[in-house]
Amino acid sequence: MVLIDGKKIAQEIKEEVAKEVAQRKARGLKTPHLSAILVGNDGASETYVGAKVKSCHEVGFESSLLRFDSNISEEELLNEIEKLNNDPSVDGFIVQLPLPKHINEQKVIEAVNPAKDVDGFHPVNAGKMLLNLPSFLPATPYGIIQLLERYNIETSGKHCVVIGRSNIVGMPMSVLLARNSYPGNCTVTITHSRTKNLKELTLQADMIVAALGKAEFLTADMVKQGAVVIDVGITRLPSDKTKSGFKLFGDVKFDEVAPKCSYITPVPGGVGPMTIMSLIKNTLQACRNKD
Ligand code: NAP
Repeated sequence: MVLIDGKKIAQEIKEEVAKEVAQRKARGLKTPHLSAILVGNDGASETYVGAKVKSCHEVGFESSLLRFDSNISEEELLNEIEKLNNDPSVDGFIVQLPLPKHINEQKVIEAVNPAKDVDGFHPVNAGKMLLNLPSFLPATPYGIIQLLERYNIETSGKHCVVIGRSNIVGMPMSVLLARNSYPGNCTVTITHSRTKNLKELTLQADMIVAALGKAEFLTADMVKQGAVVIDVGITRLPSDKTKSGFKLFGDVKFDEVAPKCSYITPVPGGVGPMTIMSLIKNTLQACRNKD
């Protein structure tokens, strides 16, 4: 069994990007600039945005954080997005989700210029992804694709079962794995909460991507010997074994599933660290696109 080390790969990517940014600066090319919009004071969102800004500094990007009160109107927020769309110094930007209930998230997603949509959420980027055209890929599936690539994991002709069909993880993951490229060329089964015979399907899978958000859902009896298992889930549960009083759980019952796998991602330290690196790579690409 090989443990896929997302932390190590994310660090490698960080160093590669930092090197390219330094070369760009030396050649007088533009320094990539990522902006983030944060609405309100949600603790988790603050942490995620803080980590994104920190990563920007570490690779030599410029970054800017635009904070707004949770009572900002939808119209005002759309105006702020338009300003970023028109600001030539900003290569890419994200609007941290979730947004307050009075703001229509889809409207916000569609207001972002697709050329600056480094989260890859705009329907234009989703459509391009479906057509296998160059586009900004959503961070989590893109991170998984990079892990498969860096570990040289064979995907062609393999049967992959994706558990979950969300717009940000399950669905784009399924599309990417089915595309005619590497990693890709899988036969993909998309499953969700209405799927009736899940265990029957996962037992046939050469690869399982678990992205349903239910702690330790995938158990050893659901996994074929030698399968590749990618655990996307992050569930924070109370624990008396940690200092913080909480512990992170993946969607996979790691201890019993790992011995059956050819490759497996741990939680934490697997898919998670890759997500920000995908955003960083997309921002670098957005900047390169303007060279
Ligand atoms: P989501 O929007 O809640 O989607 C969950 C999906 O799982 C839905 O499609 C749902 O089906 C399906 N599902 C729920 N129960 C199921 C069951 N018993 N059997 C089969 N399918 C089931 O969640 P998400 O945003 O995709 O995130 C999934 C997990 O990944 C969460 O734990 C989240 O925290 C984590 N995550 C991690 C990262 C990272 O960087 N590592 C990034 C993003 C998300 P329906 O469509 O029928 O409801």
